Amino acid sequence: MQTKILISGANGFIAGHTIEATLARGHAVVGTVRDPSDLSKTAHLWALTGAVQQLTLVAADLTDQDPFSAHVDVDTIMHMASPYAIDVKDPQRDLVEPAVKGTLSMLRAAAQSRRVKRVILTSSMAAVTDQPDGRVLTEKDWNTRSSLRRNPYYYSKAMAERAAWDFVEREKPAFDLVVINPFMVIGPSLTAALNASNRILVDIIKGRYPAIMALTWGFVDVRDVAAAHIAAMNNTAANGRYVCASDCMAMGQVVGLLRECGYNTAKLPKIDLSGPLGTTLMRWASCLQPAGTGSYLRTHLGAVPNFDNSKIKRDLGVAFRTPEESIRDTVADLERWGHISR
Ligand code: NDP
Repeated sequence: MQTKILISGANGFIAGHTIEATLARGHAVVGTVRDPSDLSKTAHLWALTGAVQQLTLVAADLTDQDPFSAHVDVDTIMHMASPYAIDVKDPQRDLVEPAVKGTLSMLRAAAQSRRVKRVILTSSMAAVTDQPDGRVLTEKDWNTRSSLRRNPYYYSKAMAERAAWDFVEREKPAFDLVVINPFMVIGPSLTAALNASNRILVDIIKGRYPAIMALTWGFVDVRDVAAAHIAAMNNTAANGRYVCASDCMAMGQVVGLLRECGYNTAKLPKIDLSGPLGTTLMRWASCLQPAGTGSYLRTHLGAVPNFDNSKIKRDLGVAFRTPEESIRDTVADLERWGHISR
């Protein structure tokens, strides 16, 4: 029988690349979206090779009572849908509820299916830490510090992943759970929609950062995240969580690379506030930002991530593109979609 995969949040940034890769391997894909008739969000999927023959899109909202039960006659599930936003009005309603409820709905549905062998959950490094402190982060680390007030997006990811592992522990379903924990995902997009992580590069280029700050990001390319999900599906020995990250770059290095790429406009930040004095100043200024951004800044200024990605390389054979390569490809793509210009 042909391998069939259910992918939730099919119109998303990571899901698009994953669907492209699964269709290319000749698998059948059922993608869930909020509204399959909204071509503004799905036309790029129908344009993929093999989509007309192998792709089905169905409606599912994470907050619905039982959104997934009707769609689980599949071999593998990749649960990617989750709200991704740093500043929201109501963190419980807008982030935590859909993330946790949607994950549990998916797992409950999978447990009722006789066919599902594996559920791959797209969690995040946000479930590993919300304040890197230089220690080497591994799959054993958990973010226990986020809350509705402190980094609520991080909280939603940690709560959803916890709920998933608790479910498996409690219900002992026939499928196994594998979790991918990506760091900040950048890369070319299949659509004009601007993902929250790619937006950071747009914001730097458009001068929305007043200065170079003591921020260091762990990057991973969206094409490598898709490859990690495919490998997690194909490799029967895959297990547990997987730190999914290539390498880190400080904001100053990112700005230098963007300058090298030709975005040497007056808008690129020039003032360097990445030293101790600048960081104190930016910490104070973070109080003037919207709550989510302010909280992110206070927990990340001066915090340099350090992580061990050997498990995903060893078990799943993922070979990561460097952040430099990803950033070059991302900005070329952002230009193609009209988000930035030189
Ligand atoms: P996108 O915002 O592109 O995709 C998120 C998807 O979730 C969209 O399809 C969105 O649908 C869907 N979604 C959100 N809320 C609901 C809801 N209530 N009901 C149904 N669908 C919903 O983000 P990414 O592709 O970047 O993210 C995919 C996954 O990867 C997420 O779980 C995210 O947390 C995780 N991740 C992302 C990282 C990144 O840097 N990008 C890093 C680490 C993890 P709609 O378009 O209709 O809103």
